[in-house]
Amino acid sequence: MQVDYIIVGFGLAGMAMVKELEDKGRSFVVINDSSQVSSRVAAGVFNPVILKRFTPVWNADEQLENLFPFYKDLSDKLGGSYLTFFETLKVFKTIKDQNNWFLACDKPLLEKHLEPKILKEKIKGIQHFEGFGKVKGTGRVLINKVLDDYTAYLKNKGLFLEIPFVHEDLKVDIESVVYNDITAKKIIFAEGYGIKKNPYFKDLPLGGTKGEMLFIKAPELKLTQQIKSALFVLPVGDDKYWVGATFNWADKTTEATEKGKKELLEKLETMLEVPYEVISQFGGIRPTVKDRRPLVGKHPIHQNIIIFNGLGTRGVMIAPTLAKKLYAHLENEEPLPIEVNIERFN
Ligand SMILES: Cc1cc2nc3c(=O)[nH]c(=O)nc-3n(C[C@H](O)[C@H](O)[C@H](O)COP(=O)(O)OP(=O)(O)OC[C@H]3O[C@@H](n4cnc5c(N)ncnc54)[C@H](O)[C@@H]3O)c2cc1C
Repeated sequence: MQVDYIIVGFGLAGMAMVKELEDKGRSFVVINDSSQVSSRVAAGVFNPVILKRFTPVWNADEQLENLFPFYKDLSDKLGGSYLTFFETLKVFKTIKDQNNWFLACDKPLLEKHLEPKILKEKIKGIQHFEGFGKVKGTGRVLINKVLDDYTAYLKNKGLFLEIPFVHEDLKVDIESVVYNDITAKKIIFAEGYGIKKNPYFKDLPLGGTKGEMLFIKAPELKLTQQIKSALFVLPVGDDKYWVGATFNWADKTTEATEKGKKELLEKLETMLEVPYEVISQFGGIRPTVKDRRPLVGKHPIHQNIIIFNGLGTRGVMIAPTLAKKLYAHLENEEPLPIEVNIERFN
């Protein structure tokens, strides 16, 4: 098999790159296993505002501009519907929280996303403190559905190999790379935390942050919005909710733990005042980087070996835009923004 690109990994990063290559008429083959599950367990939320710090997401406007056509195209191609929209309500626990909200509403990059008033009305089932602030333009990508549909579509075309990639078997030349019976001009590694096994990129400062979430059923909670406080509580229909997430920098396994469950339940107790039942629990490692920016670019010695990683906590928003930038860099020699280019660590 002879292709332009081998893509290793089919989470949000690999999928965005595959779509960009397809859009531009390049040939490719995907190699993916299920050793990492960050995209599979993610809630899929997009939110242009970082509510913990009241700062805008890096490059948020451009990312949102690319996000909607990206999923519209995929709906047209694959036949599913992958986006849902809802409002996000930030819980104010104190008057200080309210003041911080009004300060944030005046920031030029945030004002269009934050509603500059306090919502005082009680929400059934949610503990009430000093009201809520509304974030506009938030929503969710149905990641599992889109990954499943795209995988089936690629398998049907014989372009998806469900196997682990063994780095030691890659032969690298100046003009090409060879992996078993596949010859390609370039290879892009989009392995998430799987990067740790990749001899070409394992020394990049990707720390990895484990996140765990609960899936609960709460029939008396009739939420239509995402509620954000110590955790997020996100309605997904049928009285079911995603609740998350933890941040653990020490544990690098993907298993759900009792410790994670305890933390989530303790925090949930400070938010809900109606009964609920835990249906399941998930864990995954977010590919996080210390400076909170992606890791993209060419290997310093082997220019046909490329990385697309470090999507951290916000892969949904970043991936479509970054795939476009990486493609333009590889095919049209456009420079990558230094904030995301792995050259910043040289
Ligand atoms: C609990 C939790 C909640 C989250 N919620 C959100 C959210 O609401 N919104 C948001 O934007 N982001 C969220 N994130 C972050 C988001 O999940 C990540 O930014 C994103 O999924 C990273 O995607 P990726 O493609 O880089 O990595 P991954 O999703 O990890 O994909 C990498 C793929 O490569 C495969 N792979 C790795 N090594 C090999 C190999 N050697 N051979 C073959 N295949 C290989 C893996 O098995 C996997 O399929 C959340 C993360 C977690 C853990």
